[in-house]
Amino acid sequence: MLPYGRQSIDESDVEAVTGVLRGDWLTTGPAVAAFETELARWTGGVPCVSVTSGTAALHVAYAAAGVRAGDEVVTTPLTFVATAATAALLGAKVVFADVQPDTGNLDPDAAEALVTTRTRVVTAVDYAGHPADYDELREVADRAGAVLVDDAAHAIGSTYKDRPVGSLADLTTFSFFPTKTVTTAEGGAVAAADPERFRRAARFRNHGLVREPGEQRFPGEGGWHQEVHAFGLNYRLPDVLCALGISQLRRLEGFRARRAELVERYDTLLRDVPGLTLPARRAYVRPSWHLYPVRVRDGRRREVYERMRAAGIGVQVNYLPAYWHPVFEDLGYRRGLCPRAEAYYAEELSLPLFPGLSDAEQDRVAETLAGILR
Ligand SMILES: *Cc1c(COP(=O)(O)O)cnc(C)c1O
Repeated sequence: MLPYGRQSIDESDVEAVTGVLRGDWLTTGPAVAAFETELARWTGGVPCVSVTSGTAALHVAYAAAGVRAGDEVVTTPLTFVATAATAALLGAKVVFADVQPDTGNLDPDAAEALVTTRTRVVTAVDYAGHPADYDELREVADRAGAVLVDDAAHAIGSTYKDRPVGSLADLTTFSFFPTKTVTTAEGGAVAAADPERFRRAARFRNHGLVREPGEQRFPGEGGWHQEVHAFGLNYRLPDVLCALGISQLRRLEGFRARRAELVERYDTLLRDVPGLTLPARRAYVRPSWHLYPVRVRDGRRREVYERMRAAGIGVQVNYLPAYWHPVFEDLGYRRGLCPRAEAYYAEELSLPLFPGLSDAEQDRVAETLAGILR
């Protein structure tokens, strides 16, 4: 089965990992800071904290934003459930705002209509790698006194009005799962421009431990002493995986170029296929595409999904509206809440897109799809 996404691992990646395995530090060693430094070259210099997954990154970002029980987090339902689940786990009420019908990104006007004095965070998702509308979202968040978060699991390397993802929101989260553009097997990161939020993120990732004697309550305890001021978890990304991340980031420019080339080829190959809507792109963004999300009209998405799979083409659907998950239904969320996200979901189909996809394989995907719809 041709997958919808997969990692690209070459000898430089293998050597980076085996080099660490032969060394002294499997975790909490020098590769961690080196990876974070390399990552900050992609966020316009905004410092980064590496963590064990994109989900951990969201949990850390919400903690760093000060999300507490009773706060509200306004976000899009057209995302992986983790964007909302991590806020709910901190006791927040998740408020779903609808998406733009063409990009599938959080609609700033819909978010504006739902912010209240209790809104602590507004979280956008750069769906498929296409950045959301951050100038407008910034105004919404500022007017509400809320922190702006970018779930950029899809969007490392994307730019918006010539500014890189990572520098557009107050806190940005990345995922390095194998289907994503850069991988560390499992892994993620949080970018935070504000030094206090950065410090909270770095501490949360390491149990909340305070090591600086000048900041401790009991600094005279002894040289071994470290203390916890706010609860945290162990979300540390090991050196083995940070080394893989460093070698992957060296290849990111190439990944982005090949993904852009494949997207352009899909645009051409599928232009005249009936019943298909191709992904939209704003003139002022340069996406580092993670997905190629087409929409299959006329109620035929499920049929097309099944026939593509039967032909050995592993298409995917991204995403079930987050509040359709029974955990949200049991909390009282009902279908119909965000009609544009539901309409998008009803038609969405992600075609294979990854750097190792050959032109010939892509031609077969396009021909199979066209054959079903013609
Ligand atoms: C993949 C993904 C996540 C979660 O990342 P993991 O590394 O799998 O934990 C969160 N949000 C979005 C939009 C994602 O695509």
